[in-house]
Amino acid sequence: MKVRVGFIGLGAMGFPMAVNMAEAGHDVLGMDIDEAVMQRFMETGGKAALSVAEIVAHSDVVVTMLPAGDHVKACVAELIGAGYSSKLLVDFSTIGVEAARDVHELCARHGIRVLDAPVTGGVMGAEKGSLTVMVGGSHDDFQAAKPVLEAVGASITYAGGPGCGQAVKVCNNMAAGIIKIAVCEAFALAERLGVDKKVLFDVASHGSANCFALTTTCPVPGLVPTAPSSHGYKGGFATRLMLKDMKLAQSAAAAYGVPVALGSAATSLYEHCTQAGLGDLDNSIIFKVVNGDFSY
Ligand code: NAD
Repeated sequence: MKVRVGFIGLGAMGFPMAVNMAEAGHDVLGMDIDEAVMQRFMETGGKAALSVAEIVAHSDVVVTMLPAGDHVKACVAELIGAGYSSKLLVDFSTIGVEAARDVHELCARHGIRVLDAPVTGGVMGAEKGSLTVMVGGSHDDFQAAKPVLEAVGASITYAGGPGCGQAVKVCNNMAAGIIKIAVCEAFALAERLGVDKKVLFDVASHGSANCFALTTTCPVPGLVPTAPSSHGYKGGFATRLMLKDMKLAQSAAAAYGVPVALGSAATSLYEHCTQAGLGDLDNSIIFKVVNGDFSY
């Protein structure tokens, strides 16, 4: 089914997602506040909107892929101001549970049906159309959005009511962020104890410490050839984005009174790592901090 989509936010993730939606046969009108981005979008054959009013006039589904909650709330206010109503809004941005529930409330007051649909899989997943999408909102709206979701995601999960997509995303990433540090600490200790890193890798990957952070994104260079650590910590999932997600989890935990001591300690380490100027490198660079290569 061909859908008329208005795509707001054509950044590192949004650009390839919009391209994939158009390639899937949807009628996509894109918009970004960055003129250079808009220029690049048009050069690759994208149809560009000059105003939110144009997006509203064109779209049966508006999607947003913006940096943070304040951007999404401001954008929703503009859509409402331009008369968007009775139609669907799918927010793919990572904005946390509280902001997502604010957006759901704001939209409900103005008759907009909304889904929070954060993604994992990074820029590479966005380019391949193989993102993992977690969706919060009404199940009927989830079904209605399927043609648009399927154009960008390979794994699409209905997570529950308003904010549940964001809840799954921050909980998953908090666990992933903690586990990555646990793996780093094990290797740092093993090295001081005189154990070869390959020996620990072989034993742990066949034992009770086996996990994605060890066997796929191993933070120690030279053990997993495809891991970012083996390529100067380039590519992968940037430390500054991991920090953003850890902070969103911290904020949700504080709001709901859940003690997350390890999440809190891990957040501090990612903060130090980012302050040390390593924020743009893959989050596995945390190994260098845990290993004492960067003081803090
Ligand atoms: P980005 O900064 O590359 O892109 C955001 C885009 O939004 C920019 O082009 C910016 O100009 C545009 N923008 C900001 N305000 C706007 C407005 N009012 N109207 C129109 N355009 C506006 O960020 P990104 O890496 O694409 O990430 C987008 C979201 O996806 C974030 O919430 C991020 O946390 C999440 N995310 C990113 C990754 C990743 O690997 N980059 C992975 C998963 C999730």
